Amino acid sequence: MRRAGRPSTSPPRPRAAEPEQLGFEGMPERLFVCTPSRLGAYADCPRRYRYSYVDRPAPPKGPPWAHNSLGASVHTALKNWYALPVDRRRSAALATLLKGTWVRDGYRDPEQERAAFRRALGWLESYVATLDPETEPLGVERVVAVKTGVLAFNGRADRIDSRPGPAGAELAIVDYKTGRAGLDTDDARGSQALALYAYAAERVFRKPCRRVELHHLPTGTIAAHEHSPQSLTRQVSRAEETARDIMAAERSVADGGDPDQAFPTAPGPRCGWCDYRRTCPAGAQTPGKEPWAALDRVADGG
Ligand code: SF4
Repeated sequence: MRRAGRPSTSPPRPRAAEPEQLGFEGMPERLFVCTPSRLGAYADCPRRYRYSYVDRPAPPKGPPWAHNSLGASVHTALKNWYALPVDRRRSAALATLLKGTWVRDGYRDPEQERAAFRRALGWLESYVATLDPETEPLGVERVVAVKTGVLAFNGRADRIDSRPGPAGAELAIVDYKTGRAGLDTDDARGSQALALYAYAAERVFRKPCRRVELHHLPTGTIAAHEHSPQSLTRQVSRAEETARDIMAAERSVADGGDPDQAFPTAPGPRCGWCDYRRTCPAGAQTPGKEPWAALDRVADGG
């Protein structure tokens, strides 16, 4: 069971400077090792990135969120459904799978938790009814990794499908969603994480991977986008720009710069949902959400 970290007795401080790489001419720069959530954290709010990845000890997080518990439970149940032998991949297996993976944190009370379980089971039953149990994905919760001139990217894709295309097998990245309704093709097209998974999968498996899909379980809808090699390259370039900004900010702190200036706050509606709201001067002015608030939103909208 996941728990919020214990508050530390001393204030968080920037991580000690890492040894400087010697600047021999022609020597490659150190690559920025990253995941989609690391890049996304900085793009959303540089201060949140600092609290998560730079300050050590990290500031204490707020309590766990029910919507994260629900999402994690559903994702793991689907992963375990694919781990069953083909003849046991039936709807009837789902209740046991979901019980086995259920994360209980963040719910208001047992009644709300039970209702969430029933809802999640309903989503899974409807979703699995659309799948062919005999079709084996190429990967389930599969880690793909790739290096560029700037990045050493790695990430865990929910599912990678291999599907027949006009010139042979083509890959598709599938990402399960359990949050708010209303995902559309713009969400699929704009997702940097999905694009990076596709870029990496194409290189790992040496097969074209241009299609990215968001499978929204509460509504049973799929938002899809077909990338071109150019649009994937553009997303990689954007990720590299973010990585350069992060490295510059980290270097400035390591050189004695003000960490508050290097990693400024980006206040907005998301502060109410931020794990570091109690630590952050901007977040402290924003009313916090109850840990189950997004769950109610899913219940109303889904
Ligand atoms: S509370 Fe808001 S401004 Fe502060 S770290 Fe979180 S998202 Fe950023």
